[in-house]
Amino acid sequence: MAPQTSPDLPPSLWAATAEPGPPAPRLVGPAEADVAVIGGGFTGLSAALHLAEAGKRVVLLETAEPGWGASGRNGGQVNPGWKVLPSEIKARYGAERGERVARMAHGTCDLVFELIERFEITCDALRPGFLQAAYGGHGRKKQENWAREWSAYGAEIELLDRNALAALIGTDKYDGGMRDARGGNLQPLSYARGLAKAAAGLGAELHGGSPATGVARHGAGWRITTPEGQVSAEQLVFGTNGYTDDLWPGLKETVVPVPSFIVASRPLGQNLARSILPGRHAVSETRRVLFYFRMDRDDRFVFGGRGKLFDSVDHDGRRPIRHLKAEARRLYPQLADIRWDFSWGGYVAVTREHTPRLIRLAPGAFAGLGYNGRGVAMATMMGKQLALAVLGEDPDMEVEELRPIPLHGLRQVGVSWHLLTGAWLDRLDRFR
Ligand SMILES: Cc1cc2nc3c(=O)[nH]c(=O)nc-3n(C[C@H](O)[C@H](O)[C@H](O)COP(=O)(O)OP(=O)(O)OC[C@H]3O[C@@H](n4cnc5c(N)ncnc54)[C@H](O)[C@@H]3O)c2cc1C
Repeated sequence: MAPQTSPDLPPSLWAATAEPGPPAPRLVGPAEADVAVIGGGFTGLSAALHLAEAGKRVVLLETAEPGWGASGRNGGQVNPGWKVLPSEIKARYGAERGERVARMAHGTCDLVFELIERFEITCDALRPGFLQAAYGGHGRKKQENWAREWSAYGAEIELLDRNALAALIGTDKYDGGMRDARGGNLQPLSYARGLAKAAAGLGAELHGGSPATGVARHGAGWRITTPEGQVSAEQLVFGTNGYTDDLWPGLKETVVPVPSFIVASRPLGQNLARSILPGRHAVSETRRVLFYFRMDRDDRFVFGGRGKLFDSVDHDGRRPIRHLKAEARRLYPQLADIRWDFSWGGYVAVTREHTPRLIRLAPGAFAGLGYNGRGVAMATMMGKQLALAVLGEDPDMEVEELRPIPLHGLRQVGVSWHLLTGAWLDRLDRFR
């Protein structure tokens, strides 16, 4: 058989500067496990870690290598909560379940920093809080609601006027902002690899270059096949998110993969870096079509945002990054002549309700996905929730049935429409 090759990591800043991961050889031949996990991002790795910690024998299968998907490509912003407010969470799940879900969503960042500490994960983790910059009255209102609702759960949130925000982020182009002390930032690929090491240290078997290509019932459990091996397992977990393929019918249709892109500058040097983000915060915006930015540990400016839907994330030539550089320069004119050393992209998985989903696919088979661009903390938490579901321990997340998005085939039109109308509404917000 010809040697099987797995996709390379994208040419990202994170791939160039990450800590090494644990060995994750291809699966060759048969393997047995209590739980097979498909997908080696934060979701799958955190599920593997929590299951191994509970004494389960875990085999994790990953097409490329742990952290290859969105988990090794993202902005590294450890953002608190969900896209939606606690009141919206309760409206979706009902008062009692909603309260549990909101409490869980409140604690996602704590879980990330606890794991980093407990397993001594080296990933340049900082916790100066999460900054959100507001555009217009719409953005300010959104933040007032956020502060009021999450404060009730114990979050420490400070609303900032234009000048206070400008002192923290070195630009007065925003109308104000908010600091949420729960958040922070990290090197995402190092974090993924750290979770992988921790899971392996607890006995989980990790296999890179091992796409799951078939799933079938096997006795009371499952048999998962890969090009060179197969795993027999009592239970099965999917953590494939925006990279979900056709392995489980209908799962891919529960989310819409939307491309997001990032550029990273050369190291700016301390003085220039301090003129931009003196407190090393990660910043995001209230805009519907938003940008997000931060420094890395070497004072490179890392700036991301949505692309156009039909742009490919994995081919250099078509990566849409000119608008990112232009926006970075608009916010920070001192970056006019800066060299940009890296650009890359990845897929964010968006759900219809803008809330993540824990799905029971069949008895003993679960999936967790749909973080709507806020997955560093929530995917880590979802891994824990999936572990609870597998262990039969009533997770905080509601366990839902598989519900594909109706007319999923038209998703590209829907997302293009959202990007278009979102950008117009963002412009109008400046005047409201
Ligand atoms: C450019 C970008 C910037 C982002 N910025 C942020 C941010 O700053 N903060 C934040 O909170 N969130 C951010 N996100 C979102 C966040 O990265 C994701 O929500 C999170 O990483 C999802 O983790 P995951 O493990 O569910 O999925 P992924 O990390 O995408 O992992 C899925 C894995 O499944 C594997 N897989 C798929 N099919 C198979 C199969 N058949 N067999 C074996 N393996 C398979 C894939 O190879 C992949 O590695 C960003 C996302 C992108 C793309």
